[in-house]
Parts: sequence; C-alpha cells; structure tokens
Amino acid sequence: MTAAESRQEPLTVPAFTPETGPQEVIRWALDTYPELLMPSAFNLNGMVLIDLAARAGYRGDVVFVDTGYHFPETLATRDRLAARYPELNFVTLNAGAHPEDGQTPPTLYASDPDACCAVRKVAPLQDFLRRKNPPALLNARSRDQAATRADIPFVEVGGTRPRINPLAHWTREKLEAYAAAQDLPVNPLYFDGFLSVGCWTCTRAVRPGEDARAGRWAGKGKTECGLWQGENRL
Ligand code: SF4
Repeated sequence: MTAAESRQEPLTVPAFTPETGPQEVIRWALDTYPELLMPSAFNLNGMVLIDLAARAGYRGDVVFVDTGYHFPETLATRDRLAARYPELNFVTLNAGAHPEDGQTPPTLYASDPDACCAVRKVAPLQDFLRRKNPPALLNARSRDQAATRADIPFVEVGGTRPRINPLAHWTREKLEAYAAAQDLPVNPLYFDGFLSVGCWTCTRAVRPGEDARAGRWAGKGKTECGLWQGENRL
C-alpha cells in the first residue's frame, strides 16, 4: 500500500491482543505496508525492534537524526548496528551536526528545548518523510517506558500515516531478556542507568523507581521530542 492509498483506504487491523507477539505485528505491517520505514534512536527498544524486523524480512531504511548533541556511545552503537545488519540501510539525517553548527543558538536546548528539538530533530525527519513519503512507520515505543505512553496501541492511526508499534506491550524486562538472548549491542550507557538516551545536554541517568524516560529533559516539563506527540508529530 502506498502512502496515498494508506490515507484513503480504511485500515483493517487484525484483532491483536496484548498477548500478540511483536513478530506477528511486524509481519502484518510488512504485508500491509511493504514500503514502511523505521526511524530509530538506537535505545533498547529500538535495538530489539531492528533485530525482530530484520528477522521478519524488513529490508528498508533505519533512519536516525544526528542532532549534534548525541553521546559518542550512541553514535558508536549506530555503527555497530550498521555492521551487524548489512541487509538494512542505515540513514543518518543531519549528519555532521555539532553544537556550534549555527542551526540553533548554542544554549537553546536549555532555554527552549521544544524549539531546539523542532529544529535539530523533528524538522530533518519531517523533511526526509516528505521526500520519501512512506505509507507507515515502524516504531519501537512501549507502554511501560513512561506514563505518557501507557495507552500506545499496536497500530496508531490519525496524522499523516499509521504508526505501527509492535513492542507496545513488551515490558523492559522482556526487552532486556531478548537483547541478552540475542547478544544485541546495547548502548553501554544503558548499564549506567541511561534507560532512554537522547542528547547529552538533555539526558540524565534514571534513579531507582523512576520510569525509563524520566531522565529525558528532567525538570524541564518536557517528556517528548515532538516526533510522536504534538502538532508536528510524524
Ligand atoms: S534533546 Fe535537547 S539538545 Fe537534543 S535536540 Fe532536543 S532540546 Fe536540543
């Protein structure tokens, strides 16, 4: 199904249940949207999704946005994944970005993180999607990452295109067990408490009892970068 068709045709989603495995959801997504596309930030969820999708036959892009503020460990994780999955096409948008590149004032991340994310993260991906126009997105979010994600369905409609969330019902424990069983190259920062890793300027380690995304924009009243919520969501 093309992007134009996906907007016109009513979507018939199988009767998935919380027990439905992510593999089944991915297979349905690949059958329904052969041209779908996977953005990724290479967190634990994203890594598990890449592995499951590759095993299910996904051969498309894995799209990462370089904001210029990523930890070196994250960029190294991207490179390890690209080497491990040569059958996938790893794309880095805004490649070579750095804090003094002039895209935003140097401390905008502190004074107005929404504006900084909009320029450095959301806009490059929106531009790419406008050009590529995939019919759907394959996404790695899960319900137990944060209270704001507690209702994520397997298939999210509304907006420009459907977002397929095969890991919606997998817990952190399940994800960790899968990553260990498959020996996935998890970002080493994860084991230092960075359960969700974004830019170094806006991420701290999670404290005991906090949810996985509590270290993102902590104390700034912000929980999402704008890719998945808000008026410019994908
Ligand atoms: S996470 Fe922080 S540094 Fe990164 S793009 Fe958003 S506001 Fe800017």
